[in-house]
Amino acid sequence: MDTLKQVRGAVADQAALRAAVAEADVVPLLMTLTQLTGRRDLLERARPHIRGGWNYMQDIPADLQAEIRAGVIGALNDAAAAGKPIPVEPPGDLFERMMETAVGQKVPEIYRDVLMEEACFDGVDRRTVTWRGAAPTERLRGFKAVVIGAGFSGIAMAIKLQEAGIPYVIIEKNAEAGGTWLENIYPGCGVDTPCHFFSYAFEPNSEWTTYFAKQGEILAYILKCVDRYGIREHIRFGEEVERAQYDEAEAVWRIETRKADGTRETLAADVLITAVGALNRPQIPAIPGLDSFKGPKFHTAQWDKGVDLTGKRVAMIGTGASGMQTGPSIAPIVERLTIFQRSPHWAIRHPLYHSEVPEGVRWAIRHIPFYSSWFRFQLFWAASDGFHGTLQVDPEWQHPDRSLNAANEQMRKDLIAFITAELGDRTDLLEKVIPDYPPFGKRMLRENFWFKMLRRENVELVTGGVERVESDAVVANGVRYPADVIVLATGFQAARMLWPMDIRGRGGVSLRDLWGDDDPRAHLGVTVPGFPNLFMVYGPNTNLAHGGSAIFHSECQVRYIMLALRELIESGSRSMEVREAPYLAYNERVDEAHRRMVWAHPGVGNWYKNARGRVVMNSPWRLVDYRNMTAELAPEEFVFEPGRVAQAAE
Ligand code: NAP
Repeated sequence: MDTLKQVRGAVADQAALRAAVAEADVVPLLMTLTQLTGRRDLLERARPHIRGGWNYMQDIPADLQAEIRAGVIGALNDAAAAGKPIPVEPPGDLFERMMETAVGQKVPEIYRDVLMEEACFDGVDRRTVTWRGAAPTERLRGFKAVVIGAGFSGIAMAIKLQEAGIPYVIIEKNAEAGGTWLENIYPGCGVDTPCHFFSYAFEPNSEWTTYFAKQGEILAYILKCVDRYGIREHIRFGEEVERAQYDEAEAVWRIETRKADGTRETLAADVLITAVGALNRPQIPAIPGLDSFKGPKFHTAQWDKGVDLTGKRVAMIGTGASGMQTGPSIAPIVERLTIFQRSPHWAIRHPLYHSEVPEGVRWAIRHIPFYSSWFRFQLFWAASDGFHGTLQVDPEWQHPDRSLNAANEQMRKDLIAFITAELGDRTDLLEKVIPDYPPFGKRMLRENFWFKMLRRENVELVTGGVERVESDAVVANGVRYPADVIVLATGFQAARMLWPMDIRGRGGVSLRDLWGDDDPRAHLGVTVPGFPNLFMVYGPNTNLAHGGSAIFHSECQVRYIMLALRELIESGSRSMEVREAPYLAYNERVDEAHRRMVWAHPGVGNWYKNARGRVVMNSPWRLVDYRNMTAELAPEEFVFEPGRVAQAAE
């Protein structure tokens, strides 16, 4: 990043600069000022007034804020006049002080590297894996990686393959990139993670109009990346991988695909990388009579835009994250919304969940050097490992049925107080909506005016299971609820990972043989013994449910895969395969960690654990721990088969 150029850009329009600085968040401005000038006095004065990463967590007095804002304008003008590049990293001790001031907390040393990567201060992606010497051009000739899926993770993978000069192709079943953010278009669809963090660290986006973006903006961001990085021409759209078989003799993957018109093709690849997401195959419940329903019925991930819900009687089954967004979005337009809740979810409020990003903040992200980095740094801190410690079981705890420990119990109390206040005089609903399991046992939802919605005259909450569906009604507890449309907000077949693809490794053994329908395992969530040159993004035990962002985890996995490919290619090997011992040891550690965590709680059903209670989806680790596990590759954990890699060229 050319900081001087950025400084000059920022001061070019003084009126716009003044307007933006007046509106932008004061803490990232303070950090920018400190970084530009090396001044410590304002930092020290503001420090006691900052309690966390979000702007609403500071109460810096107005006069001090004015000083900071004026200081930023002065510092930028001075820097532009001086005409010298600005160092991107202040001296160590000042930097430490800035970090802990920015988030109002001591930042342990272990976070330093991950925060530097996330903040991307100099615009250089520190996660990029580079060749150790000259690029192995000869070995790359004819080499081919096949990536399955052009969603957030597949695109991240493609960008890094491309930067390294590794030839690749993406096979995408849809007609456009975007994955889950292309498919899910239900009303209110959006993200629960702050989107300035739910985006690639190396590609900040100044254009988010809200702090928690809706589907359209997220899709637009992904498509912008596809085009900016020149990925589109590498994507084979409308083609689905049905089967992939490792050819041991040739050390290549034979990948069988089917196009939209039914034609089939077999491709060869040196390495196969799956990036198909986990929330991709809808779970259609086996409710008796569902097929007999005469009106429209669709899953949230297969929303039928052609059906106008205005004035209709809608039955919505399911109250997870998709239901939480759909229900309040359609309640105002339908005649009647009957919600069928099998079990209640906890939901937490965020003060900025529905707020727009002020133009001044957007301008600052776009033009003021370091602002965007500090803002992301703050959000990473605010939205990552904060709750992790509170999700561990205290063996001495007196109420293990309803909470895990004192902090979890306090959270439970706070959430109940919030729900009670929201429901007001509808105390009849309290018993129905307050979960009997600990907070975070199921995915913690982002409160979206759900409880206010339940108070509406045209909304009814039905608890207990759905008995059956008739041609014009849903029946529960012996009562018929007439319906014109059924919305299935019933989630995904997440644990049936990589289904319906048939992926076969050495000896023709399939992943399904190994995993069954709900017991996926992998080393670091990425590689599996018996499946050489196969890598997964968003594989087993990599879902984040305590905090963080799926994009962060994808970036960790992409780096790990790039480290693996570097090892494979530079060593001139034709295959690499994780050894059984590290794979088993890793999974033992995962299981051991989960035994002490909230998702394995016996009193809760969730999509994270399998029929035998093993948590197969979630990562038990803090973000920083997983980052450290994947930031380096231990070659001794793999068996390398000698021989030139580039076998796939045809
Ligand atoms: P989900 O969390 O799995 O919720 C499915 C809902 O359907 C649950 O309430 C479940 O009840 C109910 N259900 C399933 N089968 C049923 C049946 N046969 N009869 C009655 N009820 C049934 O699915 P989701 O809401 O689509 O969310 C899945 C994941 O996608 C989320 O956890 C999240 O990771 C992601 N997501 C994120 C966002 C966001 O960021 N805002 C939005 C949407 C989705 P039980 O609870 O009793 O099983």
